[in-house]
Order: sequence, then structure tokens, then C-alpha cells
Amino acid sequence: MKYKAFHKLSYGLYIIATQFEEKNAGYIGNTAFQITSSPAQIAVSCHKNNATAEVILKSKVFSISVLKKESETSLIGEFGFMSSADVDKFRNVETKTAKSGAPIVLNSTIAWFDCKVVNTIDVGSHILFIGEVLDADVLSGDEPLTYDYYREKYRMLSPKNAPTYVENEKLENEVESRSETKEVTVAEAGTKSELSVHTCTICGFQYNPEEGDPSMGIPPGTPFEDLPADYKCPICNAGKDYFTEG
Ligand code: FE
Repeated sequence: MKYKAFHKLSYGLYIIATQFEEKNAGYIGNTAFQITSSPAQIAVSCHKNNATAEVILKSKVFSISVLKKESETSLIGEFGFMSSADVDKFRNVETKTAKSGAPIVLNSTIAWFDCKVVNTIDVGSHILFIGEVLDADVLSGDEPLTYDYYREKYRMLSPKNAPTYVENEKLENEVESRSETKEVTVAEAGTKSELSVHTCTICGFQYNPEEGDPSMGIPPGTPFEDLPADYKCPICNAGKDYFTEG
């Protein structure tokens, strides 16, 4: 099986949020899709280990915020790579309360849906929540963020709980087998050791010295070793110690 085929499926990226007994929970998901038009129903797939799944099972409501193409990276880091069980992901975001009672995250949001759960399907590692849309709104005309763009821009992997997660090893094996015939020149090898890419072990973000990190004020051409000691991953906020070469 060619695992890269899964990357040819198109998705967006969304914040799915809910609330039960004053406790907010939310995560970033790429699997939110309309399944019927009358009544309008949308399905979301949520990992059972995800703290939000448990809260949706109790609250029976959820909101979907459609993120814009250039979304705040801190949103992706907190909602995508941290757990609602460990941090209050809502402490730094603006929200409004939907008719259903679910919080709607408004940061970087171009449209939202308010849904009540009308069916849940156990699909093994994940639960598929089918929601009937109670309300929806468009907040801006910005382009939506696609999963493909996100992966290209940040060279990111899916978090392990994502339905689309594919083990990095499987993908790397495919990359290696394709590049077996490529000869690496001495010059290229020299450049590589000086300006090598470093990968965040928490979220998979890759720091490329040739590009620097404009979001953190790091100019192109800055080797990883020269980054300030307090440099943090722009996605998940992990410190330099969490990066490995390669
Ligand atoms: Fe990270």
C-alpha cells in the first residue's frame, strides 16, 4: 500500500469545540464534512483518547470553526497538539456561545457551524459524531485553510490522534526509496552539515535554516545552533531541547 496516496485526499482544518458543565474542550480536526443537506448534517471524526470526545459524548453538542488560510500558529499548536485535559485552550482565544451552548472559537475563523449530535458511530480508534446544523455564519471572505497547505507550509505531520495520521517511518521509507538514485555531491553534503534542518519532536515542525523563522523574527540563513536559547517551536511552543537534527 502506498501511504502517500492518503495525502491526495483533500481536507480543511477546523476547530471543533464543546462545553459540558462549564468545562470547555476543543481540538483541531481535518475530518469535518457535510453528509446531508436537508436537514443539514455534518460529521466529525474524533479520537477516543482525545479529551474532547468524552465531553461531546456528554454535552451532545459541538461547534465547528472554519480556519482561514493564514491562521494563528498558536491556535494550531494549542488546539492541535495539546490536550484539553492538561491546558485551558480557551484562555487566550475569543469565543461566543452558540445556541446549543457550545463555545465557538472566533480567532482566525471565517465561518462557523453550531451542531447538535443526532448520532454517534464507533469506528474503532475514533468516534464519528453526526451533527445536525442548528445555526451557521460567515465571518469573513478570507480563503479557508486546507490541510494540504498546512502540511506544505509547516512540513507538518498529523498529530497521532488524527484520523489521517500515517506513521512517519512509513512515509520516510517511501521518500527514501524514491530518492535512492539521487547522487549527493560533496558541496551539497557540506551545506547540509552547516545548515541542517531540525525537527520538533512534539509536533513535527521542521526548522529550515535557509528559510529561518519569520514568524519568530529569525532571518533566513540562521543555523539552528545560533537560535536564541529561548527559541520556541512556532507551532507547539516546545523549547530548543525538543528539536532533533534531521
Ligand atoms: Fe512543535
